[in-house]
Amino acid sequence: MKALVKHTPKKGIWMENVDIPKYGVNDVRIKITHTAICGTDMHIYDWDEWAQENLSLPLTIGHEFCGVIDEIGSAVTRYKVGDRVSGEGHLTCRYCRNCRAGKQHLCHKTVGVGIHRNGAFAEYLVIPESNVWPIHKDIPSEIASFFDPFGNAVHTALSYRLTGEDILISGAGPIGLMATAICRFSGSRNVVVTDVNEYRLDLARKLGATKAVNPTREDLKSVFEELDINNGFDIGLEMSGNPNAFNQMIDNMYNGGNIALLGILPNSTKIKWDDVIFKGLNIKGIYGREMFDTWYKMTQMLRSGLSISEVLTHRYNIDDFDKAFKILKSGNCGKVILEW
Ligand code: NAD
Ligand code: ZN
Repeated sequence: MKALVKHTPKKGIWMENVDIPKYGVNDVRIKITHTAICGTDMHIYDWDEWAQENLSLPLTIGHEFCGVIDEIGSAVTRYKVGDRVSGEGHLTCRYCRNCRAGKQHLCHKTVGVGIHRNGAFAEYLVIPESNVWPIHKDIPSEIASFFDPFGNAVHTALSYRLTGEDILISGAGPIGLMATAICRFSGSRNVVVTDVNEYRLDLARKLGATKAVNPTREDLKSVFEELDINNGFDIGLEMSGNPNAFNQMIDNMYNGGNIALLGILPNSTKIKWDDVIFKGLNIKGIYGREMFDTWYKMTQMLRSGLSISEVLTHRYNIDDFDKAFKILKSGNCGKVILEW
């Protein structure tokens, strides 16, 4: 079968012919129809420090997918051939303290599809039945193909009560953009989004941002009067991974505010700790998606009128994967998908 494989420890990704993966009794085999490219895939493409430390090659990459089940293991009971599905790319142990407490997203033995084992950028993907998520008939496959980052956005945004709150989202990448729509949908008051990329700020407006600000051109505090925000933001969702953005967030939070950190900040990031302490800020790290409450919320919000389709800006046939990686690299895009 065709697969996008990282076979050599250098920049690039290559289309290869590999064996169709074997499935066990508890697994399903999915015929992939749509995949989406994540920033992580870009790190693997670039073969940066993180990729060098975490990957063993060769590896079929990719973890954002939608497809149709075409084979099931003999013990699979909940899905059948022909079901349209996506799935959770974090495989958890199910027996550690957190897994047993229903907090699988905090499992310390998590294995990542397309990172620690072969992934979804292939004609077929095998995952355990318990990781499969069924796609409701009203949800298009191209949207389902990026449920994974949509889930990051849902998990982060729904960490706090959004109703009536003034929210700051730093970073209008695909996840920040989807979080914008989720916050608006969930009854927040103002959703102010920052980014340094004008293309993405335009997208943030399309997804419902009350105000999209380029901090290199406009002072964030100047929007307070315009939006009638008295003392600062109630909730901050850090989705850029940029230290300046995080510092600006801390600076503009109201006392007692809640921050959720999804963006992966460098370990060298310095912040004003006295602000965190004297403002009494609450800071929470976010990893992945809650299994499977996040997935439930994603489905039900889409069925209730949440629209995230504006985030999808580019579609390519898999044979043009190089073009897709190039446009993602440029930053002038929202979500980029590959059709198989
Ligand atoms: P992305 O890289 O596409 O988006 C980040 C955005 O931040 C970009 O649009 C960039 O222009 C913007 N930015 C850069 N400097 C900025 C600044 N000073 N102020 C405001 N914005 C600035 O990433 P994404 O795919 O949307 O993911 C968002 C973040 O979440 C990334 O850091 C990613 O690594 C991280 N992530 C974390 C998890 C997790 O489980 N914790 C999962 C997925 C992604
Ligand atoms: Zn576990």
